[in-house]
Amino acid sequence: MIKFSPPHIDQEIIDEVVSALKSGWITTGPRTKQFEKNIAAYCDAPNVLCLNSATAGLEIILRWFGVGPNDEVIVPAYTYCATANVVMHCGAKLVFVDVNQNDFNINIEQIKKAITPNTKVIMPVDFAGLPCNYEAIIALVNAPEIKSLFKANTSDQEKLGRILILSDAAHSFGATANGVRTGALCDVSVFSFHAVKNLTTSEGGAVVFNLPAPFNNLEIYNALCIKTLHGQNKDALAKTQKGNWKYDIVEPGYKCNMTDISAAIGLVELARYDAMILPKRKHICETYSKILGEQAWAQLPILKENDRETSYHLYPLRIKNITEPQRDAIMQKIFDADVAVNVHFIPVPMTSYYTSIGYNIANYPVTYKNFSCEISLPVFIDLTEDEIVTVTTAVINAVNMVIQQ
Ligand SMILES: *Cc1c(COP(=O)(O)O)cnc(C)c1O
Repeated sequence: MIKFSPPHIDQEIIDEVVSALKSGWITTGPRTKQFEKNIAAYCDAPNVLCLNSATAGLEIILRWFGVGPNDEVIVPAYTYCATANVVMHCGAKLVFVDVNQNDFNINIEQIKKAITPNTKVIMPVDFAGLPCNYEAIIALVNAPEIKSLFKANTSDQEKLGRILILSDAAHSFGATANGVRTGALCDVSVFSFHAVKNLTTSEGGAVVFNLPAPFNNLEIYNALCIKTLHGQNKDALAKTQKGNWKYDIVEPGYKCNMTDISAAIGLVELARYDAMILPKRKHICETYSKILGEQAWAQLPILKENDRETSYHLYPLRIKNITEPQRDAIMQKIFDADVAVNVHFIPVPMTSYYTSIGYNIANYPVTYKNFSCEISLPVFIDLTEDEIVTVTTAVINAVNMVIQQ
């Protein structure tokens, strides 16, 4: 069986984790702080806060920006539920918009139509690793007629004076637009280091601060270190300094810090990301495109286009002119050939909870169309050349069997 995306855990990672375990410091400490610095340097962004998940990072930024009841947050209908759930946690109104046919990313015209005086945040998702069109989104939120709609309710909202762009960059670590890496493309970006993501810490995430002047990103980083650790003004490491036991609670904070055991994995992964992880993923995706590009029914994902390049997180293949049941039948035949495939994603408005509160996929026709013919192929660094061919052969055979029926 060819798996979908098993983690690559080798001796180097095991050794670094063992070092962390033996160091006497296993929760947030020197490795997490080093990992944050290394990510900031990699992305060329001012400050990075590592947490236990991307979901926690997205929610903490919504909370920091003061998003609550009566506020609206714009999210693509075609994403993982985490992007939507965090808006619900804050009690804000979740506003889905449709996506592009060509690249699966949030559609700028649809964002424009969805903006109201209550819109506080837009959360674009870099689907499969391909960066959204941030230039257009930045231009949109700064357009005089959009900016004048913005109602600031908090001092940070006042300071920004416009809608915040919070990128769900869970897929796009290492992707670029105009030669700039994700993380530095908009106000705040959040990466996921979940086990299936390009760069993993088993579970984890990172918030990349790139807010414009007059914001002080370091100050916000420091404030959010407290907010993500109970609202306690001293972290565990600071408290172990001789005589430094006294602490205060300055707000009812959250608890979502990263451990040094996780950071140990991340440090090794990041150090070899450009030399080993990204090129291998790129090779797999390009080989899929080369082989499947010969099939008339194949709609290949955009990997590189003009000024932007994906992180090669997913390979979202689409099959032209098929229905959702045909897609499901094709997937079953691929599984029968012992190849694991997936669908990214079941659109959030199609899930039972979001349907029950009134969302309807019929309002997001491009999302549905993309979903109904999408099959994600395995991409992971231990996939061999032979296995790449096994995958494409399984896909070609399955499609031919189903569309000839
Ligand atoms: C994986 C994923 C997340 C959540 O990441 P966690 O680190 O598991 O919280 C959020 N958004 C998208 C699009 C994802 O794929």
